[in-house]
Amino acid sequence: MSLLTPFCQQLKQQYIPKQRSTTHPVRCWSETDRHHTSIVDAFVIILRTTGCSWSHTDGCSMCGYFTDSAPDSLTTKDIETQVHQAMQRYHGEPVLKIFTSGSFFDTKEISRSLQQKILSLCATQAKKIVFESRPEYITKASIDLLTPFLKKTEIEVGIGLETANDLIREHAINKGFSYDDYLTAATSLQNNNIGVKTYVFVKPLFLTEKDAINDALNTVETVKNISTTISFNPANIQRHTVMEYFWRRQYYRPPWLWSILEILSESKQKTTTRLQCDIVGGGSHRGAHNCPACDKEILEKIRTLSLTQHTDKISSLSCNCKKIWTAQCNTEKLTFGSIIDYQQGYQ
Ligand code: SF4
Ligand SMILES: [Zn+2]
Repeated sequence: MSLLTPFCQQLKQQYIPKQRSTTHPVRCWSETDRHHTSIVDAFVIILRTTGCSWSHTDGCSMCGYFTDSAPDSLTTKDIETQVHQAMQRYHGEPVLKIFTSGSFFDTKEISRSLQQKILSLCATQAKKIVFESRPEYITKASIDLLTPFLKKTEIEVGIGLETANDLIREHAINKGFSYDDYLTAATSLQNNNIGVKTYVFVKPLFLTEKDAINDALNTVETVKNISTTISFNPANIQRHTVMEYFWRRQYYRPPWLWSILEILSESKQKTTTRLQCDIVGGGSHRGAHNCPACDKEILEKIRTLSLTQHTDKISSLSCNCKKIWTAQCNTEKLTFGSIIDYQQGYQ
């Protein structure tokens, strides 16, 4: 068992589960996204299930999604009702993202028959459907389920690889699968004309800012040929997590937006694969941030870049805090990230 597992489990015990509706999804909303070369609307549904199986037994160091989970009494019928509730708000957006706070293809979360029903309901309506899953659930049975629907719609499956480095994934994230597990799953998706969206986590615990930039860039280099989309997830501090534990003690700072820009701009030079970056909590202490003077502008720049894929004019962005970021990247082996924020009074 990894050393992080008991730590993750212990912190989860401090969470007192809230009363949740089992017949309403966690959230659903419309947003703008890119589909091939066009900017289109996308509809996102987060279904409430009993949660990620890995989180129940072990858990990832940064993940607080277990707080979205429903009790074990949740039924398949309840989840079906959630789907119908959500689809009432769907207005033909070309991209439909159907997520759980876990894995869509984990039959402990969503039964195979309900997975089939959801596909039948949605495949005729959207041009592209996106799911998310850990690699162990991307089996022959899941692929066989998806294949017939490919005549009607494009399908992409997101896998949270986080990093191509097994050491970091195991000891800083506690992800519970190897790069080879990811590659096996991604290859079988690719061989069946199903898109692979690879999530790259920016700044796992215990990495300096510079190491985090290098780790993301190495990951892009490794996965660029198998991925249809590379989606960067800059760290945000979720409650009841190991990451929050370290952040509260100022042993960790979420990544700088300057780092995200550098990763996007360098990645664009490495690959033509579509790059995406959704920043949760951007500009706040718990999310990726620079300084109050430039957060808004840089976040907007990253959002636009995600949609247009244009990295031009990045080098012309500036703010006084860029010097501090540069200094941190050069000295962080000593300061280890947090001290800079602390000194600037941002925390
Ligand atoms: S990050 Fe993904 S795999 Fe890890 S605990 Fe959260 S939902 Fe499960
Ligand atoms: Zn700034």
